[in-house]
Amino acid sequence: MHQLKLASLGIIVGIAFLASSCAKNKGESAGGANLGKNMNIQKTEFGKTKDGQTVELYTLKNDKGMVVKIMNYGGIVTEMYTPDRNGQMGDIVLGFDNFKQYEGEHPYFGAIVGRYANRIAKGRFILNGKEYKLAINNGPNALHGGLKGFDKVIWRVRPEQTKEGPALVLTYTSADFEEGYPGKLSATVTYTLTNDNGLKIEYKARTDKPTILNLTNHSYFNLAGAGNGTILDEILQLNCDKYTPVDPTLIPTGKIEPVAGTPFDFTRPTPIGARIAQVQGGYDHNFVINGGGEGKLVQAGTLHDPKTGRVMEIWTTQPGVQFYTGNFLDGSIKGIGGTYVQDAGLCLETQHFPDTPNRPDFPSAVLNPGQEYHQVTIYKFSAK
Ligand code: BGC
Repeated sequence: MHQLKLASLGIIVGIAFLASSCAKNKGESAGGANLGKNMNIQKTEFGKTKDGQTVELYTLKNDKGMVVKIMNYGGIVTEMYTPDRNGQMGDIVLGFDNFKQYEGEHPYFGAIVGRYANRIAKGRFILNGKEYKLAINNGPNALHGGLKGFDKVIWRVRPEQTKEGPALVLTYTSADFEEGYPGKLSATVTYTLTNDNGLKIEYKARTDKPTILNLTNHSYFNLAGAGNGTILDEILQLNCDKYTPVDPTLIPTGKIEPVAGTPFDFTRPTPIGARIAQVQGGYDHNFVINGGGEGKLVQAGTLHDPKTGRVMEIWTTQPGVQFYTGNFLDGSIKGIGGTYVQDAGLCLETQHFPDTPNRPDFPSAVLNPGQEYHQVTIYKFSAK
């Protein structure tokens, strides 16, 4: 009965969507197509890739007026507007207002990262006795899925109006050995802009051969607004008693160490800038989430901007979170809101630990045929 109702709802949404696509074909304005009645999703053309594919930008709006813009290219979140304590909306992620800059060099702004987010030492790993080699694209290591990772491919997008809020279902099939990873992988990433001001990201995937997988989203947040100074005065709290120390190439040493007594201790709310000078190069470390990675959603932490009052909670099913303070931003990129200087934004990338494929003692990142990869992360916004 329940399923029947859902099925008929699906048909109605589908018809509304089809009707609106027809309307668009008849010459929809440049202002964008509204994808169906009651569908708080607009679609506009954002550009064309060098090989001629159309890049579309979807604008999702929830009941409270929060807005998120997402592209089919890389599943990139380009803009995200949340209210401050006075109800003033501000764009709190770093990004560009044009596709050209996204197709050029940039440090994974807003993107879905895969197949393996973060680093794999020397770009090699052994799975079931067989060695696999990946592109070396970060010092001596492999980073973020290779030369053309999930951040640089066109995803198929299906807009959906759900009970929780407007959603986009993104799908991509990665061929066997794409970027050196074994198995044909079917990935689905669903972004839902929930009516309680959350951006919920649900990742699912299946493979036809044993493989490794680690998907994340690489948004750079600045709760004061993109281009509006640095994140050094923002206050971070992490429910992480441990972290994974790294070597000079940012590969985990293999140890899992307590944060207590180190600049990595964010168990109590602490300004990010307070101890950053004690961390060589700035924060770019994987934190072990207390109770994380066990199939249930836990709160990894909270970020608070005292100036605007904006708060972001991070909830996830993943075992780890990469806290990265935009150390490699150097003022050479001009995006929406201004110039992105060092520490202009921070990433809290929920993930499996870096280099897990070479660390049998870390929570496994292996995906076998017949299993479903399933992770959920929610960035939830409020103000105080
Ligand atoms: C990594 C950084 C890297 C950044 C952009 C982060 O996930 O940890 O080292 O510079 O992504 O590529």
